[in-house]
Amino acid sequence: ATPTVAIVGRPNVGKSTIFNRIVNERISIVEDTPGVTRDRIYAHGQWLGHQFNLIDTGGIELGLDMFQQEIRAQAEIAIEEADVIIFIADVKTHLTHDDETIAQILYRADKPVILAVNKADNPEQRQDIYDFYSLGLGDPYPISGSQGTGLGDLLDEVVKKL
Ligand code: GDP
Ligand code: MG
Repeated sequence: ATPTVAIVGRPNVGKSTIFNRIVNERISIVEDTPGVTRDRIYAHGQWLGHQFNLIDTGGIELGLDMFQQEIRAQAEIAIEEADVIIFIADVKTHLTHDDETIAQILYRADKPVILAVNKADNPEQRQDIYDFYSLGLGDPYPISGSQGTGLGDLLDEVVKKL
């Protein structure tokens, strides 16, 4: 069966932007404000001849009242559905409590988790990714969804774990 890669992370970190970059189409709706109705969240991706299904869990609307419950539930879906999880954080907001909450859920998963730090648009921001080592998920991969940088290295790591 085709393996599945799931994208998790807080609202507004750039999950949909990265999803669209990976599948090379504008499938998932990129929103400046979190919490709006989203478009498709499943697509087919490939990298270096490796095929995979990609899920943007941020687009899964569970209707849970509390924001924390919603992101927890999205992380649980990622753990259940995925063979590899891409956890996206945002270098501009730095590390947040919600990132730590998600990381704690992902520790329990017996699945590879690759930490990507988005919005690393310039060299100074790429320096700031080192803070994210404290999540305990290994090397953070700096990426920029708006520039399209860093995605090759990230996807190399993803397909290694498929
Ligand atoms: P999601 O809620 O995690 O799916 O995030 P979106 O993909 O909808 O993006 C949220 C906002 O961040 C939008 O305004 C995007 O244009 C912006 N954004 C996404 N990636 C980048 C990036 O690499 N750099 C910068 N500066 N902004 C980004
Ligand atoms: Mg989104």
